Amino acid sequence: AGSLQTVKKGKLIMATNAEFPPYEFHEGDDIVGIDAEIAGEIAKKLGLELEIEDVAFSAVIPEVISGKADMVMAGMSVTEERKQNVDFSKTYADTVQVIIVKDNSDIAKPEHLEKKTIGVQEGTTGAILAEGVKDANIESYNKGVDAVQSLIQNKVDAVIIDEETAKALIKDTSGIKILDTAFAKEEYAIAVKKGNKELLTQIDKALAELESEGKIKEIVKKYIKA
Ligand code: GLN
Repeated sequence: AGSLQTVKKGKLIMATNAEFPPYEFHEGDDIVGIDAEIAGEIAKKLGLELEIEDVAFSAVIPEVISGKADMVMAGMSVTEERKQNVDFSKTYADTVQVIIVKDNSDIAKPEHLEKKTIGVQEGTTGAILAEGVKDANIESYNKGVDAVQSLIQNKVDAVIIDEETAKALIKDTSGIKILDTAFAKEEYAIAVKKGNKELLTQIDKALAELESEGKIKEIVKKYIKA
């Protein structure tokens, strides 16, 4: 790994949006979470020092395309559209998009979202799903937590967001719930600049090792209580 070229010599720069618990979020002056810790382990295996760049979610892919960051790790779901712009590692986690509503909502399943106002985080797969709902109004936020805040204040009727993040965001809030019926499964992976085979190979190798060492499970357990 010694000859691996990165944006900054000796560093592995990860672009993320640290508003996405339990994957990446602020804790005091630090950015912590499942992705942050896995990235730290990958960097260690590559003999590099991890540096986290916290930007808007819609800016994480541009960061690697423009060569400011080595990789995106941001609870990012693999999609065909994103594959046009970046290359993805092997997947390291699964999710589904869920719907958060008020306890007394008349929305009980995705079909009931028609004509409703839906809060989403800008640039996410949840936003894309919302755009597919017939006659829905969409309110975009920079942070999922702001969408949830709007739900509490009755400014939106529902929020569509990744399952574990939904759980983390509603944890200390009463009067809102996650619906049982969710959307299709998605998979999280690390993205690198298109054609950066060298780095991608090293990331995949590190991920495979971390998996077989049980390290990924251990990190997930620390942040997601079963
Ligand atoms: N998994 C979703 C996506 O890839 C949301 C990610 C996020 O908000 N950090 O679009």
